[in-house]
Amino acid sequence: MKYLFNEIATIQKKITQAKRVAALFDFDGTLAKIVKRYEDASLLPESRRELSKLSLHLPVVVISGRSLSYVKRKIGIGSVGYFGNHGLEWELNGQKGNATISESKRRAVREAKRLLLTVLRQYPMGVIEDKTITVTLHYRRVPRHQQKKIIEAAAEVLSPLLKKGLIVITRGKKVFEVRPAYAWDKGVAAKLFLRKVGPSVLPLYIGDDKTDEDAFRALHKGITIRVRKSVRSAAQYYVKNQSEVLLVLKYCNENFF
Ligand SMILES: [Mg+2]
Repeated sequence: MKYLFNEIATIQKKITQAKRVAALFDFDGTLAKIVKRYEDASLLPESRRELSKLSLHLPVVVISGRSLSYVKRKIGIGSVGYFGNHGLEWELNGQKGNATISESKRRAVREAKRLLLTVLRQYPMGVIEDKTITVTLHYRRVPRHQQKKIIEAAAEVLSPLLKKGLIVITRGKKVFEVRPAYAWDKGVAAKLFLRKVGPSVLPLYIGDDKTDEDAFRALHKGITIRVRKSVRSAAQYYVKNQSEVLLVLKYCNENFF
């Protein structure tokens, strides 16, 4: 994994050679800082300006684990496309779409939410984020010594639904997520977006978490960037922290497009 700003010449060459380029971003921990209260995440005005500017020159999409309505509201740029719920729902060029999930699986996610709420009786600092298609348990504010326990309790109440193959559980940065069992991830969403953009498009993807690894793998021929270095990541490049994402946006606007 190489530091992005040491490899600018290589990237410049790739971008110059490409017929067209599309930029794909994760939201939390990438465009927005990770915050204590998940609902407080927001885009800096400067980042919004740069993102907006970039979207005038090339297709730009944000692929987030949040609900579509949430991520759209937080970013609020009309020329940007949005995927919510890790790609299960989207709005591209003003057209909404979503993955077709069976009623039994939707019902299982609602049931999972009810079960997770029972867990919170013991761990009141946990927070449930209901994103309709998926549900997230945030445990960042749960006392550190209880964090392992809350996850174990959550996994236990959900195990019957999991065994029936109705849901899948994924873990991220202090989040425990329940999704319907459906072969879909950020990599699939990214590919769907690129197909809509057209042939021979070079993707540039930036993300910071486990769910972004699916996109890093799916877009291995493009330019993949992780926020923070990690030896286990499938991304080719890294930036040192979330603040450097703004530098990437600025650099792209000033030099590439
Ligand atoms: Mg993230």
